[in-house]
Amino acid sequence: METKRLIEKDPALRKDDLIVIGGAGGFIAGALARYFKKRGFTRIRAIDKKPMPEWYQRIFGVESLVLDLSDEANCRRACEGAVEVYNLAADMGGMGFIERFRVECLRSILINTHMIEAACRAGARRYFFSSSACAYNTLLQQDSAVRALKESDAYPAMAERGYGWEKLMSEMFCQEYWAERGLKTFIARFHNVYGPNGTWDGGREKAPAALCRKVIEALDGGNHSITIWGDGHQTRSFMYIDDCTLGIDKIMHCDALIATPINLGSNELVSINDLLSKVEKIAGTKLKRQYDLNAPRGVAGRNSDNTFIKKVLKWEPATSLDTGLRATYAWIQQQHEARKKGKRVVE
Ligand code: NAD
Repeated sequence: METKRLIEKDPALRKDDLIVIGGAGGFIAGALARYFKKRGFTRIRAIDKKPMPEWYQRIFGVESLVLDLSDEANCRRACEGAVEVYNLAADMGGMGFIERFRVECLRSILINTHMIEAACRAGARRYFFSSSACAYNTLLQQDSAVRALKESDAYPAMAERGYGWEKLMSEMFCQEYWAERGLKTFIARFHNVYGPNGTWDGGREKAPAALCRKVIEALDGGNHSITIWGDGHQTRSFMYIDDCTLGIDKIMHCDALIATPINLGSNELVSINDLLSKVEKIAGTKLKRQYDLNAPRGVAGRNSDNTFIKKVLKWEPATSLDTGLRATYAWIQQQHEARKKGKRVVE
C-alpha cells in the first residue's frame, strides 16, 4: 500500500550548502559537478572509486575524494554534512558492457543502498538517483518503430537483465525512503546520454561516441569501411549532456516529483544507420558499411515519451542531435589526435 506524506517546504538552497556527487570521475556526474560550480556553489564534494588521474574531469575548487561507494563506511564519510546528495555512481557502459557484465551491474545496488541510508542519516534534504530507460519492460521494445516509453511502462516489470533490474530495485528504495523515512528522493530515468568528456573507447562507450571514433579511425587509417553492431535498423534517442545536467537540477528541485520516476531523455528518434549518416556528414565522408549481426544490439527500439516532463517542468531536452554530435565529434577527434601524439587521454 502506498503511504502518502505531507510535503514540508525546505529552506532555499544556499550557495555554501554542501552538495555531494557520487560517480563524479565519470561522464555525467563530472559534468554535474562542473554545472554546479559554474552556478556559484562553493562546497561541492565529488566522489569516485577510480584513481584521480583516471577521472574524466577534475574541477578546480571542488573537493575530490577517491572512495568506493559500495562500502557502507565510505558512504557515511561521503555524506557527512551533505544538504543534497546526487548518486550517479554505477558500474555501467553501453550494450557491449551491460549484456556481458550483469553481475557487476547488479552489484551497483550496494552503492545506492548504502548511499541513500547514509544520506538519510546525515540529514540530507534531497537525494537524487540516476535510473535508466533500461528499467522499462523490454517486451515493449521489440520493434524498431517503437512507441515512446512513458513512465508507467516500467510495470509489469520485465527490465533489462542485470542493469535494468538493479535500477528498478534502487528506484524502489528511493520511493520507500520517502514513504517511510521522509527523505525527499528524486528519480530520473535517463535515456542515452552523449557529449564531450564521455567514454569514447575501451568497451564501455555508447553508440554516438563509438561511431564518431570509428569514423575518425577509418579516415585516419585510410580504410574507408566501418562495422556496425546489429543490422543498423535498431532505433534510439540520444540526449546531449547539457540537457542532462540542467534536467537533473530541475527534477531535484521540483517537489511535485518527489519519489516519482520521470523520463529524462530526448525524443528525437534515430536508427543507428541514420546516426552514422549524421556522423559521416560532419566528417565529410561516406564509408562502406559492414554489419556484425552477432554483436550486442540491445532492444530493437527505444524512445522517451516526454509528455510527463513537459507537463510538470514545462521543459524537455531540446539540443538537436546534429548540434550535439558536432561538439562530440570535435572532442573525440581532439582526444584521438592527443593519443596519437602519446599524450595521456581519458577513454
Ligand atoms: P560513467 O561510467 O562515466 O560514470 C559512472 C562512475 O561511477 C564511474 O566513474 C565509476 O568509476 C563510478 N563508480 C562505479 N562504481 C563505483 C563505486 N563503487 N564507488 C564510487 N564510484 C563508482 O557513467 P555515466 O554515463 O556518467 O552514468 C552515470 C549514471 O547515469 C549511472 O548511474 C548510469 O547507470 C546512469 N545512466 C547513464 C546513461 C548514459 O547514457 N550515459 C543512461 C542511463 C543511465
